[in-house]
Amino acid sequence: MQLAFFGAAGEVTGSCYLVELERTRFLVDCGMFQGGTDADRRNREPFAFDPRSIAFVLLTHAHIDHSGLLPKLAAGGFTGPIFCTAPTADLAAVMLRDAAHVQEQEASWRTRAAARNDGRRIRPYSPVYTLLEAERCVRRLHGVAYDQRIEPHPDVAATFRDAGHILGSAIIEVAVRAQGVTRKLTFSGDLGLPARPIVRDPTPITDTDVLVVESTYGDRRHRDFASTLDEVAAILAGTIGAGRGNVLFPAFAVGRAQSVLCVLAMLVRAKRSPPLEIYVDSPMAAAATEVTLRHRDVLDDETRALLAWIQTQPKEFRLRFTSDTGDSRALNSRTAGIVIVSASGMCDAGRIRHHLRHNLPRAGAAVVITGFQAAGTLGRRLVDRSPSVRLFGEDVPVRAGIHTVGGLSAHADQPALHAWLRHFRAPPQRTFVVHGEHNVATTFAESVRASLGWRDVAVPALGDAVPL
Ligand SMILES: [Zn+2]
Repeated sequence: MQLAFFGAAGEVTGSCYLVELERTRFLVDCGMFQGGTDADRRNREPFAFDPRSIAFVLLTHAHIDHSGLLPKLAAGGFTGPIFCTAPTADLAAVMLRDAAHVQEQEASWRTRAAARNDGRRIRPYSPVYTLLEAERCVRRLHGVAYDQRIEPHPDVAATFRDAGHILGSAIIEVAVRAQGVTRKLTFSGDLGLPARPIVRDPTPITDTDVLVVESTYGDRRHRDFASTLDEVAAILAGTIGAGRGNVLFPAFAVGRAQSVLCVLAMLVRAKRSPPLEIYVDSPMAAAATEVTLRHRDVLDDETRALLAWIQTQPKEFRLRFTSDTGDSRALNSRTAGIVIVSASGMCDAGRIRHHLRHNLPRAGAAVVITGFQAAGTLGRRLVDRSPSVRLFGEDVPVRAGIHTVGGLSAHADQPALHAWLRHFRAPPQRTFVVHGEHNVATTFAESVRASLGWRDVAVPALGDAVPL
């Protein structure tokens, strides 16, 4: 038996692990590489294995760095099922179609730009995969219930446990039979923080032979949730409450946008905020919110109580989803009193840019940044207090208040990761630390050795194949 690491090894994106047994081989996740200058090239490279040889895929959750290359796998000849939780199947369908759409747009934009510069007939750029290929892949998604044992092959049994990261996210426990012996592998997927809105707490796992654990924030401690609520309450009071301006939340459409809505509802319900008129202006965020509402059974109790409250308070908490660009544009004339939740989270694309163009020059407005802002993005320039930013070819002065709110992360920090690991009754025989930048993963591995006394904790390198 062998476990090979083809992504998220010494980095955060591109999760992809290959498990090879005597009679079958399968993948856990098949994610896209994101960020950095060579992500596009890496996403286009042929897989290090033959997609036709993969019997099935186990998918931890819908985020594109875990699911984004599944259409390429299917286009390359993979014909098996992709097992995931039912909410993940719905979210992944939304996200993979969107990813294909964005790639098709980008490819045609690049082709036109190259033709303009060169003038001659040039070979058209191609997307990593097309919308049609994404559709074909979406048909391979098989949603299963949490805690339900499935047997995709006579030598493999898998169970999805709630990872508390985003809707549908799972830790996957896999029992495999090799040389007559059964061994247990546990893939943490991305782990969430306990006691956060929307999702339940990560499920404790008590035993495994081999553990593959994420380490995105394995070297740090997050701001607590209570102070995040305080900060947002103060911003709402100083803008909406004082009648001075609008509040903009640039947010990732899947996960973060729904967390922001929860925080706003919690504050209004507790009378810590004035009544709110909220516009979710992102088709993807609207679709993801709709999927969330369709899967109420997997939401945490607090969120279900909050949804029941929202239904009885249409005046206190007025939530609208803008459907077309006309509705979106109509918000431009509103100079005060509304909350806009829009994508993209880093302000480098999407409708949020139009809202920023209109609201950044308004001194009474506020922009609330809730997620990581990569270097070079518009969001990062706002966080870095740039006095003006470039939007649609014009310089836009930044007079609005820019606030960074740190407590809405969907990832466990070091104390939360340690707490989850402490549920194992005995150290796994082998632990592999993945899904963290190299120095973070190394720091985290060292902390596990030091604090928990686990001996065999390794940070695999890209392409490593480990016999088990
Ligand atoms: Zn994730």
